[in-house]
Amino acid sequence: MCLREMIQRIEETMSTYSSEREVAIKAVIKACHLCRTVQKNLVSEESVAKKDKSPVTVADFGAQAVVSQALAGAFPNVPLVGEEDAAQLREAENAEVLEKVVANVQQIEPELNQDQILAAIDRGTFEGGPTGQHWTLDPIDGTKGFLRNDQYAVALALIENGQVVLGILGCPSLPVDGKNFDGPRGCLFIAEKGCGTTMRVLDDPNAADQPIQVTDIADASQASFCESVESAHSSQSDSAQVAQLLKIAVPPYRIDSQCKYAAVGRGDASIYLRLPTRKGYEEKIWDHAAGSIVITEAGGRVTDVRGKDLDFSIGRTLRDNLGVIVTNGKLHDEVVSAVMQVLDLNG
Ligand code: AMP
Ligand code: MG
Repeated sequence: MCLREMIQRIEETMSTYSSEREVAIKAVIKACHLCRTVQKNLVSEESVAKKDKSPVTVADFGAQAVVSQALAGAFPNVPLVGEEDAAQLREAENAEVLEKVVANVQQIEPELNQDQILAAIDRGTFEGGPTGQHWTLDPIDGTKGFLRNDQYAVALALIENGQVVLGILGCPSLPVDGKNFDGPRGCLFIAEKGCGTTMRVLDDPNAADQPIQVTDIADASQASFCESVESAHSSQSDSAQVAQLLKIAVPPYRIDSQCKYAAVGRGDASIYLRLPTRKGYEEKIWDHAAGSIVITEAGGRVTDVRGKDLDFSIGRTLRDNLGVIVTNGKLHDEVVSAVMQVLDLNG
């Protein structure tokens, strides 16, 4: 038995969710390949200049179809909270997009016909909730990054009785070495409750999965933080004030999607701030479930801006939370209190 097989056997014996884990990993890898193909073939200078969103639409629906079909085949009774449903795709005016979705899915799953693909996408309409198991999927998290030929993620998590127990985060364009953006790209993060977080190199399936860990920085002034590229998704002016209070000297590491969770999980940064931009926005569970377990199993902490745990048990959104703060754990209380001060939440 080779080392990789031995490691895999050990992981399987430790794992409570070994079959869910294997199916989910394969599904996310397939979806990552679909997204890469669509990005390569459809995202062009012309589509970017025209602000044409159709490439991301094709990849979004296609990735949800591929993952949902794989989950339905293996776990037919476990429902899915997915970002997409197929209602729009079924409209006559979107026939061209549907054709492209079907063609891209069939490159990966040739036996699926159009009706099966639409049905797989429509499985994502589950409402979530506090009991039993359900999956949650963001087929392309960071659509704006995808369209800029930048970072995005395929994020899949299993929630059991309101707790995230498994997270698979595919980051097809993320540098394997966070310090070398000229090197190879494409990573897969795998986290299971009680079993740690590992990173796999997407294009080197023979390389062993590597455990990852958050940084052990305890002095906030030595830390770096990441945040959204899109200022509409997180207040960059508030985060600048937090950084000033904490005496963080380095500029923010701006990166799209749940790649931010991956970056903190493996120590490229020590903090991720997602600070509310407007009243009433409810974060979606698929934007945080996989990422949050990647962090907690790598030794870090995830809460909202008031230091409250994220509550994945109340449906499709995190409506009882406000914003998100992710740290290496050691810095958490200090970062939360700086954020509370800046957002004037102490009164
Ligand atoms: P990011 O790539 O981290 O900027 O986040 C992308 C995600 O932001 C998308 O999947 C959206 O669901 C989400 N999003 C959209 N509008 C907002 C908003 N006003 N505040 C926070 N997140 C948002
Ligand atoms: Mg998203």
